[in-house]
Amino acid sequence: MIIIGGGLAGLSSAVALAEVGYRVRLFESRPHLGGRATSYWLSDGSHVDNCQHVTLGCCTNLDDFYRRVGASEKIRWYSRLFFVDRRGRRGVIESSLLPPPLHLGPSFALFPSLTWEDKRAISRAMLAITRSGGCPADAAGLSMLEWLKKHGQTEGAITRFWQVVLVSALNEDLERTDARYGIEVFWKGFLSTRRGFEVGIPSVPLAELYDGCRDAITRRGGEVRTRAAIREIRVAGDVASSLRLDDGSELAADFFISAIPQDALLEMLPPEVATREPAFSNLRHLKTSPITGVHFWYDRVVMNEPFLTLLDRTTQWIFNKSRLFSEHAPGGPSGEDGQYLQLVISASYGLVPLSRQEIINLCRRELLDVLPATRDARLVKATVIKEAHATFSPEPGCDRWRPTQRTPLKNFFLAGDWTATGWPATMEGAVRSGYLAAEALLAADARPQKLVLPDLPAEGLARCFSRV
Ligand SMILES: Cc1cc2nc3c(=O)[nH]c(=O)nc-3n(C[C@H](O)[C@H](O)[C@H](O)COP(=O)(O)OP(=O)(O)OC[C@H]3O[C@@H](n4cnc5c(N)ncnc54)[C@H](O)[C@@H]3O)c2cc1C
Repeated sequence: MIIIGGGLAGLSSAVALAEVGYRVRLFESRPHLGGRATSYWLSDGSHVDNCQHVTLGCCTNLDDFYRRVGASEKIRWYSRLFFVDRRGRRGVIESSLLPPPLHLGPSFALFPSLTWEDKRAISRAMLAITRSGGCPADAAGLSMLEWLKKHGQTEGAITRFWQVVLVSALNEDLERTDARYGIEVFWKGFLSTRRGFEVGIPSVPLAELYDGCRDAITRRGGEVRTRAAIREIRVAGDVASSLRLDDGSELAADFFISAIPQDALLEMLPPEVATREPAFSNLRHLKTSPITGVHFWYDRVVMNEPFLTLLDRTTQWIFNKSRLFSEHAPGGPSGEDGQYLQLVISASYGLVPLSRQEIINLCRRELLDVLPATRDARLVKATVIKEAHATFSPEPGCDRWRPTQRTPLKNFFLAGDWTATGWPATMEGAVRSGYLAAEALLAADARPQKLVLPDLPAEGLARCFSRV
């Protein structure tokens, strides 16, 4: 069997199928595995992640995948989230001994950047989410912003709380986000379990997380080929018959999983199949949204926290990469002499037209206030990575365009964060899609098996409201 694409969707299906006995051949066009969630080395020898990637405690399938490939111990978990607002006030969100959904309540009550009116409004909306087990009936068909306004959220609550969490989690503005997606972030991440909100950050460059994948596949007789782009998917009747590689060679197989981005898939299918079958033709309706990553190398230490979330700024997160890496391997790859920071701006529509220098200037200005030590520090190097089509946009109603992993071609399956997983475009969504594609293939091969793990069960008082 053949898998096209070595991102998390392709890798997770490949590893799961290899483990149940298939001889898997995986083809990836780039030199390295990991797709969008990977890293590469700059010409001067320093490495950059293709933007910081974080996971949350509620991401059960990503956790399972990391365990399968021996990457779990390379993820460090943080149970304190640090925030800083325009006036320099720092707040912390952390768990207390209270049972979910009340566990974050005490730190939320002390949070300095929200007024009591903001907090009362947020608590009311949280109650509505909790009572409905994360599925309030009045959210159907609404954008997140519409739902928040319906629930009387103040301006401060929207801009300094809901927007801060959701734009990062979903890579979309609140008015362009389906309320279902936004509400699920809070139910699964912040309300239903104690550790759902904890942030997991790799303590090594992203590409190093996938070292075990190649071994998991080749050890069982499979093959992983990088720098090997598939150019064409050939179809005969209701089956995929073969693939054509960029070197002109042709590959046949009994089963295929496509785990490449949706636009690349449409280019490789025969045009009549891509336009005739709604599973494929609907993909043109899926919109995308941008993320910008900014990398700064300073000549000295300018930040102590492992990461900071910024309120009231264009910059949304700052990751202290030197510290994140050094905690795993002292004297790690970056920042022995100075400090390497990575800034993330999700749904960065406003930055797309700006030049790299304009983005660097804007972010540097913001850091002068947030991290006063940068005023005396020298910026040794800076890099900007703009991803104009970083993820699919979770806009209201987008689920109707997301195809299942099974397709009208009997031996051809789809994986990718954009397929129907119920999850937004995340590493967890990509791994779920990989497991679902593998499940569909196993069922078609008369070997049905369950691979997708359920969400964490609701705990404490939240259990009374859970629908699972
Ligand atoms: C900047 C940025 C920041 C992000 N931050 C986070 C985060 O913090 N947390 C989180 O959970 N998610 C985050 N995401 C989302 C996450 O990266 C994706 O959801 C996930 O990696 C998608 O995996 P995938 O396998 O579906 O797709 P991809 O990673 O896109 O993999 C597709 C693979 O197919 C390969 N390919 C394409 N065409 C061909 C071809 N013709 N032949 C062979 N191979 C081909 C590509 O090279 C690629 O490796 C972020 C995404 C971006 C872009």
